[in-house]
Amino acid sequence: MRHSAGIAIAWTVGAAAVLAPILLSVHLARKQSTDGEFRLLRGYASDVLRRSEGTGDQSGVAIDTLENDGLTPCSPREIDVMRRIAITSSYLQAVGRTAQGQLICSSLGTDQSIDLGPPTYISRTGTLFRTNVRLPLTGGEPVIVLEREGFGVIVDPALPIDIMTESPDVAIADFAPANRRIITQRGHIDAHWLGTGSGRESDFIDRGMLVAVVRSARFDVAAVAAAPMIDVQRKVREVAFTFVPIGLFCGLALAGAVLYISRISFSMAAQLRSAARRDEFFLEYQPVVDLATRTWVGAEALVRWRRGGETVRPDLFIPAAEESGVISLITERVLVHVARDLPALLRERPAFHVSVNLSATDLQSPATLDRLRRLLASSGAPPGNLVVEATERGFLQGSAAREVVSSIRDLGVDVAIDDFGTGYSSLSCLETLDVTFLKIDKSFVETVGTDGATSHVVQHIIEMAHALNLRMVAEGVETEEQAGFLARRGVSFAQGWLFGKPMPIAMLLGQLAASAPAEEPVSSPG
Ligand code: C2E
Ligand code: CA
Ligand code: CA
Repeated sequence: MRHSAGIAIAWTVGAAAVLAPILLSVHLARKQSTDGEFRLLRGYASDVLRRSEGTGDQSGVAIDTLENDGLTPCSPREIDVMRRIAITSSYLQAVGRTAQGQLICSSLGTDQSIDLGPPTYISRTGTLFRTNVRLPLTGGEPVIVLEREGFGVIVDPALPIDIMTESPDVAIADFAPANRRIITQRGHIDAHWLGTGSGRESDFIDRGMLVAVVRSARFDVAAVAAAPMIDVQRKVREVAFTFVPIGLFCGLALAGAVLYISRISFSMAAQLRSAARRDEFFLEYQPVVDLATRTWVGAEALVRWRRGGETVRPDLFIPAAEESGVISLITERVLVHVARDLPALLRERPAFHVSVNLSATDLQSPATLDRLRRLLASSGAPPGNLVVEATERGFLQGSAAREVVSSIRDLGVDVAIDDFGTGYSSLSCLETLDVTFLKIDKSFVETVGTDGATSHVVQHIIEMAHALNLRMVAEGVETEEQAGFLARRGVSFAQGWLFGKPMPIAMLLGQLAASAPAEEPVSSPG
């Protein structure tokens, strides 16, 4: 379960790590190049519009000039004026007079009237537009003729749209927004773009085309520029090509790392499980002394793992065992070994106490009670010779632990709080728990004789234990100074290298046999 969950998590993390940067960069690339393309198209449309407005301005000036010159219509002097206007107006090819749909004279000559044909449309301002007019005067090339108040202006249709574009795919046109008529165009312009959007400028995407429209504030004229999204798509592809390998690499590396870690923890759990099955766990016993007499009155059972040729210390595997739940198998092995060792110990010292460590998980489980009962039954040991050690952490998780502890007490087995002072237990917690012993953690004992702030803490712990009527076992006693300090303050028992390191059961039995049995102590812990 844990392993496959680990793999699933690894792949999910990996996939997210691969996809997130790719999707993000593709999104940004798309947005950036779309914005850039729109900016370009608006620029083209503005250029076209400037030329169209220029044409409108010059036409207006030309017509006003001719209207106000007071010369005889189509007189040689007026033709002269027309020529001057045509030469100086960059957007106008020619100017002339009109009547009944005919160009009657112009800057190009006066020979004869030319029929202009019907107007293509009439603009909002009343100008008649004829797009696509072929005049013999202009060499038969189609031109645009604007007619107003009896005057005609001839415009080269190529002029407004004669702008440079980055790509030949760009289509441009100028048009009359009022009736959506195209005046002149290059490339394909969809008729319904002409009515889309409002305001001075607008841009939109229509069926794979990016479209920008710019409208004149002064004339009934607007310009449109459009380009296929292909350019955008090409840029997005380029970005994707750079980011996909980077994303893939990061994602795979991350997934690999997660997989690696989950495999390590999995294999640790699997190894511990098989170690329990193959009985690779064994015990060492560390003596507990009566501080007043220095006699060995008990021992703490400490688990070891014989893996291959080496012995593994519990600090290296107990945390992993607790996390994976394998701890309960290990506890079971420990209790089986204690059951086997107890009879010999009790033969040597009938009042000897052995303590065993229970983890938080063990305290949650009623199976622990069954195991303790089995231990007592199979060893024949009185329950008073057994002590279980539980850390403060074990009591934090709900009421189940309290019930298990009180059931243990009901069996007649003593309970000690281990590593006291390192956890979070409060006084009230201690008062309501039915415990017998309090083990002062090694880290506090170490401060004895030093002048650090924590050196006062051990004093408080001792006072508190006295107030609660708890007996104390000091852990990690390494010096005579520490032993003396603790003894003077009424700590009954101690454990530490000063008295004895953890040792195999045979050595413990040998040492006990070699020393004369002490006077039976009234009560002693494991
Ligand atoms: P603990 O229960 O606090 O055990 C005391 C630890 O302090 C032991 O380390 C012991 O060897 C060490 N010690 C004792 N006297 C001295 C001393 O004077 N100086 C120094 N520096 N160290 C001293 P060990 O055996 O490595 O055990 C480490 C921890 O592993 C234990 O701490 C306990 O939390 C856990 N443990 C050991 N056996 C079991 C077990 O059977 N079940 C469970 N659940 N945990 C266990
Ligand atoms: Ca312990
Ligand atoms: Ca401890």
